[in-house]
Amino acid sequence: MTLTNEPSFRESVDLMFNRAVALMDLPPGLEEKIRVCNATYTVRFGVRLRGQVHTFTGYRSVHSEHMEPVKGGIRYAPEVNQDEVEALAALMTYKCALVETPFGGSKGGLCIDPRAYNEEELERITRRFAYELAKRDLINPAQNVPAPDMGTGEREMAWIADQYARMNTTDINARACVTGKPLNAGGIAGRVEATGRGVQYALREFFRHPEDAAKAGLSGKLEGKRVIVQGLGNVGYHAAKFLSEEDGSIITGIIERDGALFDPEGIDVEAVYQWIQKHGGVTGYPDATHTAEGPAVLEAECDILIPAALEGVINLTNAERIKAPLIIEAANGPVTAGADEILRKKGTVIIPDMYANAGGVTVSYFEWVKNLSHIRFGRMQRRQEEARHELIVHELERLDRYLGDAWSMSPNFKAKYLRGADELELVRSGLDDTMRTAYQSMSAVWHDRNDVEDLRTAAYIVSIDRVARSYRAKGL
Ligand code: GLU
Repeated sequence: MTLTNEPSFRESVDLMFNRAVALMDLPPGLEEKIRVCNATYTVRFGVRLRGQVHTFTGYRSVHSEHMEPVKGGIRYAPEVNQDEVEALAALMTYKCALVETPFGGSKGGLCIDPRAYNEEELERITRRFAYELAKRDLINPAQNVPAPDMGTGEREMAWIADQYARMNTTDINARACVTGKPLNAGGIAGRVEATGRGVQYALREFFRHPEDAAKAGLSGKLEGKRVIVQGLGNVGYHAAKFLSEEDGSIITGIIERDGALFDPEGIDVEAVYQWIQKHGGVTGYPDATHTAEGPAVLEAECDILIPAALEGVINLTNAERIKAPLIIEAANGPVTAGADEILRKKGTVIIPDMYANAGGVTVSYFEWVKNLSHIRFGRMQRRQEEARHELIVHELERLDRYLGDAWSMSPNFKAKYLRGADELELVRSGLDDTMRTAYQSMSAVWHDRNDVEDLRTAAYIVSIDRVARSYRAKGL
């Protein structure tokens, strides 16, 4: 979203980058090399649909190739433009560096309203777009690996993977050309939920640091915290669902395209999600108060605000009125640079996008590794792990018999302990570890340096430092 009185999305990302770089000691000129986008490819292609040729415009932007392949989703939305794609590609560079996925940053977009086309038409459009990108190595397992983003999902990724495979019939690693595929087309368990799951793990880690939570005037855990979420798409839905069902948070507000739902007692996320699938919006949902003024609910009283929709939704027009003491950016770029400054002055704590929504690319990394190793995670170890656990359980059973009434195993211990981890459990464990480790590196900078006021600047410093080291290792 470009606001007339505010910098563009890309300029906003650059301003945030500049704030961090001003506190760093980079070799002369390197800062510019890191900040600029290496290349953006624009393609216009025609597809014959409904008896006439339709021309579509698409982009694939490569921000930084300090590591390859470069990684980032492909977005389908009518507002897609070069500035947005470049901003998103830059965020991918910093995101990947922060969570230590060994990728450079990239992003793609197609100017299209996917709801205006049927499945068969979308498949033809997607295959043609994929063809245009693949023939220029902008889709390639070793060079550029797309993934889902707004308006795309498993279905589109399966078409892209198939298109690439048709064009590269002898490439044994063809499946690794794109991530976010369905399981039966080389995907990985837990990729669909990954970004929302990552938001949950990020919040859990934040509340494991009481001194950080205190900066937002919050204490305790996630239980009972009042949460407002904007956007019940893949990311917002999973984040809100997991937080309410597993952590005891209360979802007091849900903001969607056609207004918002509000209930201080808590909204049933799954019921609203099902309602949206059926009716196309939240209007008419019977078990909460509906208001047509959706964006106004961003300003409502709550403990945690989760913008999980578009960029630029918290901007100069509403930042002053945002009451949430903690914002976690599940979307990319939901807070403009101007709004960020206002919120910082107010003492609002912001868990920045490049960390908060990194769960998606983290699990994409696991999927890419799975595709390159041609084997499902856990396939070699699982039964062996179970066999070893069985040895211990036998010994414990012997002890149990020996000690009689004095001691016995807890009721569910045996069943739980005997089960080796499946792929989904391994993916969640890898994601949890990633989110914890990245938070700690970011929060260490926040605490250790008194010139770093906020988590976003800390996150940029960690990322830029890592990218700079890669460039230096390459001789730049
Ligand atoms: N589109 C997602 C993002 O913005 C996922 C990218 C990926 O998995 O490569 O992070």
